[in-house]
Amino acid sequence: MKNYKIAVLAGDGIGPEIMNQALKVLDIVEKRNDVRFELMPASFGACAYFSDGKAFPDETIAICDEADTILKGTIGLGHEESQKIPVDERPERGALLPLRKRYNTYANFRPVSLPPVLSHFSPLKPNVIGRGIDFMIIRELVGGLYFGAKKRGVDKDGKRWVHETLEYDEEQIRRILHVAFQTAMKRKKVLHNVHKSNVLVSSVLWNEIVEEVAPEYPDVTVKQVLVDAAATAMCLNPGQFDVMVMENMFGDILSDQGGGILGSLGLMPSACIGDKKSYFEPSHGSAPDIAGQNIANPYAMVGSVAMMLDMIMDLEQESKNIWKAMQSVFAEGFSTPDLSNTDVESKMIGTDAFGDKIVAHLKNI
Ligand code: NAD
Repeated sequence: MKNYKIAVLAGDGIGPEIMNQALKVLDIVEKRNDVRFELMPASFGACAYFSDGKAFPDETIAICDEADTILKGTIGLGHEESQKIPVDERPERGALLPLRKRYNTYANFRPVSLPPVLSHFSPLKPNVIGRGIDFMIIRELVGGLYFGAKKRGVDKDGKRWVHETLEYDEEQIRRILHVAFQTAMKRKKVLHNVHKSNVLVSSVLWNEIVEEVAPEYPDVTVKQVLVDAAATAMCLNPGQFDVMVMENMFGDILSDQGGGILGSLGLMPSACIGDKKSYFEPSHGSAPDIAGQNIANPYAMVGSVAMMLDMIMDLEQESKNIWKAMQSVFAEGFSTPDLSNTDVESKMIGTDAFGDKIVAHLKNI
């Protein structure tokens, strides 16, 4: 029997509500496979700051170090509440970025996927969506502006200034490009390289490395697209994309736009892969506007579990079963309220009920 230690970081806002649904699903997977999940809950994010004085407490670090992998919910507070926490302990700066850095989870997979039967959830017109939306955003996750040196000060005239540095070295670029080319090889063999080389010298280097790596993957067609044009193209013709690769901040922004064209950020799971350790989280934030109301969509969280089973646990069939079970819930006409803004009427249910329905379908597969 395989045994996996999983650090469970439910986090803030809707994190605990959607994590509960993920754990229900893991329970079923465990019961019917030769696998054991040892769950290790730990405090992370704003909740950890308020209870332990640190957004990523030492005890949580020790648990994550010991774990084989990490399942993360969401972290963060609304704007007003965030001001109660010192800048360096705010959830992203104090917990999320240190987590990514510690485990060097450089390859972030963010599927933007909506099968044709669910295309009514998208705000895009049917003729734009065509045969559904299905592409993979690969975002470099531990470099660029988010990790570069930061400095602020006041000049001699009393004017405040700030410097943030966008840093990449060629190894960082090369390794994420290999991930992207290998992903393209497994899919349609078309890779969109998203950059801003008309302005940024970091993109010029990025593109040089693309040219160096591409000959190793002669079957993959590389298409170049500027990040601003990519944002438009995702809305006007999302069907042209299959795999997109980009640096950290471009990926942060375009993947949220991915949630927009699907109809909700609640449909955006993700996997953050490092050479030694990986973690899995929904792409969205802690949704403070709906926290505690049992109305958050657990799809992205449960989808992140499906990605974990497939990508690092050799449980590919169970991963497929989870996607199928979630789509069956939608196919029965149920959805959470974030997906109510559509011409097709759905029966609105809450987070727990949606999770229970996933489990019920899963048991029947
Ligand atoms: P958000 O992603 O939390 O929410 C944006 C909108 O999407 C909100 O209207 C929210 O209700 C909705 N939404 C998001 N997930 C949903 C779900 N599963 N079901 C239904 N609706 C959903 O972004 P925000 O409001 O800009 O940020 C809130 C907090 O989250 C901030 O503190 C931010 O820093 C943090 N954040 C954390 C992460 C992370 O944990 N990786 C990512 C992004 C933002």
